[in-house]
Amino acid sequence: MAVEATQAAQVDVSKASSVSAEGYDKKCIFCKIVNNEMGTELLHSDEEISCFRDIKPGAAHHYLVVPTKHVGNCKSLKKEHVPLVKRLVETGKEILQRNNVTDLSDVRFGFHWPPFCSVTHLHLHVLAPASQMGFMSRFIYRLNSYWFISADQLIEHLNSKGETN
Ligand SMILES: [Zn+2]
Ligand SMILES: [Zn+2]
Repeated sequence: MAVEATQAAQVDVSKASSVSAEGYDKKCIFCKIVNNEMGTELLHSDEEISCFRDIKPGAAHHYLVVPTKHVGNCKSLKKEHVPLVKRLVETGKEILQRNNVTDLSDVRFGFHWPPFCSVTHLHLHVLAPASQMGFMSRFIYRLNSYWFISADQLIEHLNSKGETN
């Protein structure tokens, strides 16, 4: 009984503080990954952006590019996040080139639109070559569907929101 009570108290504490001042959400798997707590290899890591492989690759190359500090999913973004989204895309292109993907026309870059997102930490999916993706991957990462949008579409959407909204 005493142990259970202690555990319940700990759960309450974690609920009260989800994201710390440093931008770390201790309930978030991607925060743990970018802070090297999961043993996942980081292909890129700086103060602003981190990159690692998707654990369920949908193509020969499948990377996730994320803000190093916790940022919510794309529905929570505002116009001020446009530079961040652009940097996620730039980093994704660099990672592909570093991994010998030279045909940047045969790639897929995009975000899952909530609620079609299993992790709330903003993450850009980078897949290549897009032409060799299997049936399920084509479905899960389908452009112009209502569950997956391209980086360009997201930027357009954020820009149309205006400064004050
Ligand atoms: Zn996070
Ligand atoms: Zn996703």
